[in-house]
Amino acid sequence: MYIYPPIDYIEPVFRPPSEANSLILQVTNGCSWNNCTFCEMYTEPQKKFRPKSQADILDDIKRCAESLGAVRRVFLADGDAMALSFNRLKDILLAIKEYLPSVTRVSSYCLPRNLKSKTVEELAELQSLGLSLLYVGAESGNDQILAKIDKGETFDSTVDALLKIKAAGIKSSVMIINGMGGVNYSEQHALDSARLVNETQPEYLATLVLFFRQGEAHFRKEFGDDFIKSSQLQLIQEMQVLLSNLELEKTIFRSDHASNYLVLKGVLGRDKAKLLSMIDGAINQDRSVFLRSDRQRGL
Ligand code: SF4
Repeated sequence: MYIYPPIDYIEPVFRPPSEANSLILQVTNGCSWNNCTFCEMYTEPQKKFRPKSQADILDDIKRCAESLGAVRRVFLADGDAMALSFNRLKDILLAIKEYLPSVTRVSSYCLPRNLKSKTVEELAELQSLGLSLLYVGAESGNDQILAKIDKGETFDSTVDALLKIKAAGIKSSVMIINGMGGVNYSEQHALDSARLVNETQPEYLATLVLFFRQGEAHFRKEFGDDFIKSSQLQLIQEMQVLLSNLELEKTIFRSDHASNYLVLKGVLGRDKAKLLSMIDGAINQDRSVFLRSDRQRGL
C-alpha cells in the first residue's frame, strides 16, 4: 500500500511512470526552462520555477524517515532537479543515505543545459552517493524541430549531456516524441533521433505520442504553419523508420505510455526484428488487432 509522504507538495507534481512507487522528494518547484511549446506541465502560477530551500528539503527527508517504512527509491522532483548546484545535490544525497538507508536508487529528470556546469568527476561523485538514473527528454534529434518547439537544446547539446552522464556511471533514460515534427518532418525526425540514440547508447529508451491538451491550433501557432499532424498510420510508419535505424547494444525500450497506439516493449538490439514485425503487422494487417483504440489510450 502506498503511504502518502509527509511532504507539503506544491501541486501538480509529475514523475515518470516508472517512478510510481518511489518517494517523490520535491527539491525544486516547476522547470527552470519552461518554454517547450508542447509542454503544459508547469503552467499554473504556483509552478513558477524556484528551488526549494535546502533546510526544507532536509526536514522533508527526516520526516519521511520517521513516518515511512523502508524507502527503496527516491525521485527528485520537479522538472529538473539537476538545476541545483553540485554541493546542494551532494548534501541531499548524503541526507538520503543517512536517514533513508534502504534507498537503492535516486533518480530525476535532467535538462542537458544543467549538466554544463557540472564536471564528470562531480557527477561520478553524485553517482557514488546514490544518484543512479537521469531521465532526459530529448524529444527529437532534429535541430530544426528542436528550434521550432523551443526546446533550448540541440542534437549536440543533448549528445554531450548523455555522454557525460554515461562517463559518470549514471544510467540514462531517453524520451523521444512520436509525431513531434508532424508529417513534414517525420522522416528527418526519426532518422536524427535514431542517430542521437545510437551515439549515446542509453540504458532506457521510451517513446510517447505527441498530444495537445490546448489543441492542435495552439501548437501550430508556435511550431509554424508547416505542422501537419500525423495520422495514426503515419505515426506507426515513423516508428518503423526510427526502429529500423536504431543500432543499440543493450537498451530497454518501451512505448507503453498511455498516449501510444501501438504498445512495444523489448530489449534493443536483441528484439529489433520482433518489434519491427509487430510494426509491420500494424501497418499491413488488421490494425485493430495491434493497436489501442482512442478509448484504451486513456488520455
Ligand atoms: S524542459 Fe521538460 S518540463 Fe521543462 S518545459 Fe521542456 S518539456 Fe516541460
